[in-house]
Amino acid sequence: MRWFAQVVGTASPDTTPSIVVHFDSQRYLFNCGEGTQRLFVENGVRANKVTNVFLTRLNWDCIGGVPGMILTLADAGVRRLHFHGGPNLTHFMAANRHFVARTGLSVKVNEYPLNDGQFFEDENMTVRVVELNPATRSPPAESSDSDSEMGTTTAAHEQGAMKRKHDTIADAASADEAIALKRQFIDIMFPGQPAAVATSSTSSAAVACPADPAIVVSAEQLIALRRQFGQRMPRTRPARSALCYIAQGRDVLGRFDPKAAVALGLKPGPIFGKPTLKRGESVTMPDGTVIQPQQVVGPSRPGAIFVVLDCPSVDYIDALVASDELNALAEAKDTESPRCIFHLLGDGVIEHQAFQAWIRRFPSSTQHIILTEQCTPALTQFRKSAECQLRLNQLDPSIFPLSYAYLISLYVCAIVLADMPNACVGETNLMYFMEPKPSLDRSQVPTITDYTWAGSVGKEIRERVEFTAAIEQAHRALEEERAAHAPDAEHPGHEIVVTTLGTGSALPSKCRNVSATLLQIPAIGNIMLDAGEGTLGQLRRHFNIDSTSQGADDCLRKLKMIFVSHLHADHHLGVIRLIVAWQRVTDQHPLYIVGPWRFWSWLQEYNGVEQLYLSNIRFIGAPDLHYTLPDDKASPSARAMLNSLGLSAIRTTDVIHCPMAYAISIEHQSGWKIVYSGDTRPCNKLVEMGQQATLLIHEATLEDTMRQEAIDKKHSTTSEAVDVGQRMNAYAILLTHFSQRYPRVPPLNYIPPRTGFAFDMMRVAIGELWKMPTMLPAIRTLFP
Ligand SMILES: [Zn+2]
Repeated sequence: MRWFAQVVGTASPDTTPSIVVHFDSQRYLFNCGEGTQRLFVENGVRANKVTNVFLTRLNWDCIGGVPGMILTLADAGVRRLHFHGGPNLTHFMAANRHFVARTGLSVKVNEYPLNDGQFFEDENMTVRVVELNPATRSPPAESSDSDSEMGTTTAAHEQGAMKRKHDTIADAASADEAIALKRQFIDIMFPGQPAAVATSSTSSAAVACPADPAIVVSAEQLIALRRQFGQRMPRTRPARSALCYIAQGRDVLGRFDPKAAVALGLKPGPIFGKPTLKRGESVTMPDGTVIQPQQVVGPSRPGAIFVVLDCPSVDYIDALVASDELNALAEAKDTESPRCIFHLLGDGVIEHQAFQAWIRRFPSSTQHIILTEQCTPALTQFRKSAECQLRLNQLDPSIFPLSYAYLISLYVCAIVLADMPNACVGETNLMYFMEPKPSLDRSQVPTITDYTWAGSVGKEIRERVEFTAAIEQAHRALEEERAAHAPDAEHPGHEIVVTTLGTGSALPSKCRNVSATLLQIPAIGNIMLDAGEGTLGQLRRHFNIDSTSQGADDCLRKLKMIFVSHLHADHHLGVIRLIVAWQRVTDQHPLYIVGPWRFWSWLQEYNGVEQLYLSNIRFIGAPDLHYTLPDDKASPSARAMLNSLGLSAIRTTDVIHCPMAYAISIEHQSGWKIVYSGDTRPCNKLVEMGQQATLLIHEATLEDTMRQEAIDKKHSTTSEAVDVGQRMNAYAILLTHFSQRYPRVPPLNYIPPRTGFAFDMMRVAIGELWKMPTMLPAIRTLFP
């Protein structure tokens, strides 16, 4: 049987390693960090045959793409998913209940070491686990109960109710009860009922669009979910173990010997008996003689073995080189030795002498595929998106800067490739064929370098007459208008830069990642408005200006606040990786997060899976900043946030989308005011809160002709978004969150002056937004 493994995610600024193993009947995914499903789309790998997902660590770098992947696969018709991983996998899955649930899907969790015996076995392969633990003791875990860090609240009913239930349920639970409760949550989230049950329900919740990450459940289930999911789960502590997976294909049957078969009286044709005998079953001849398989089929041999090895830091090397099971593989002979090892390595591991000595113990027949950011060329991973940028860059290189791709560390590469001829770098689309004949296949790895590829796109644009004419026309128009748009004292804030890191709705696509908008405010710092899956990757790709990633680090260091508008997966699944990266580079605390209380519950529960150091985070519930609350009712933590950020007001309003969906207004004493809608229908409260905004950033999911769909899905059309801006007398408007049906130029009818429309990785100062309506004809020409 033919089967092979493929590198899908490589270690790069915007992706983490993931591997797909292809069999005819199904696919197996090893690790699913943020951006994995976008890589599937980019590289044409169909995800809907994936039914088993193996996770090496319960760390966001390995699991950050899981919640989004579950929703996407469920909506693509996948009916069952099995997740395999280490301690806290059940906790992680249940913690996602606030925003991940699908009635049609059944999800089973296989948590090591809770299940005894063989870790995994099916018709294609068996998988064993080797657990590695770091040599150093884990740092003292911060209590996962960070209630003390919560801002005091005037509207804390949600928080209070959760806390009371938490006290009675969470603390009383034994380990067995705890795991049973978590499993129960997972069963409620994914009951595995036929889709018809959900769609036939009359509940309004059941009409949610499949592509929308809303929960699709019946009315009764919704009630059960609301009642039960408010409970806080029993606490847990992060485990530091890394799992290595040793996978082996099914035994390969021996050759069928047709001559021997004929000699025994079997006749070629339908009753030749080959399929039966190859299956290992005997065949009875018409005269009653029984032919045993071994008489005509040669001996079978063990199936191919491959290993997914995770060594996250040099602290794990001692455990790795001391592992009896891994060492047995190194010493095994012929068919018992691994064909291929995928090495997922943290910083410094590849250069470590003990690791290099260990890797050399394997026979030369074992192929080592190295996945580490240290020696992977950071080539552009999302080329369709980069191509978009290349086109727009010809028009205005400051608003549409090119994303960064940097070169590999030649030093590290020299070590790996020079000293180990049977080692190679795990680039995207590298394949390793396990059966029938072991071989490395580089044919699908892009051979074209970023330089030649970018050069060819640039050349096409420069050589097409209609492109250059449109660009020149736009440049002339901009020069004519420039004087009329000089910064004026009446409208402060024109120097604030808005970078739209993700501008698509629902699912990440080739050209538009999911929501994230960064504000860079001189003398104040940076504010992130929503952060969907892949936001850190987009940020690193956009801001890295050299191989030391100073640009991205500097941007993170200045991050002061994250606003989470609501709990749809396309708006918040990038926050954890952002927090982890922020903690790594900053010594200035705290970081403020404003959002629905349930988001904080989720972060606290996830903090038991991976240490997030939440004491450095100040969470403020969005309802506590409601614009209708009098100023003297502002909580001390809200006041502290304003002082810390140097702002005069931060207000929110509930909007018309899903429960607990909010918009935000950020104001400065100098007079500027920035308003962000989150997802919503046109909303009068938003208009009221946003009066005289300097900039309104508003979602514009659908085109004007799709108003009914916008009503059904509780989104806005482009004209509705513009109208909201005009009703609040906004000085400038930026439209974003476009449906993925508009991958390139969003559909716009009329746009008033100073109204922009977002592309991924666009960087525009408020004072420059006047350019965009003028550039629209040229932009349309550039995307024929
Ligand atoms: Zn939404």
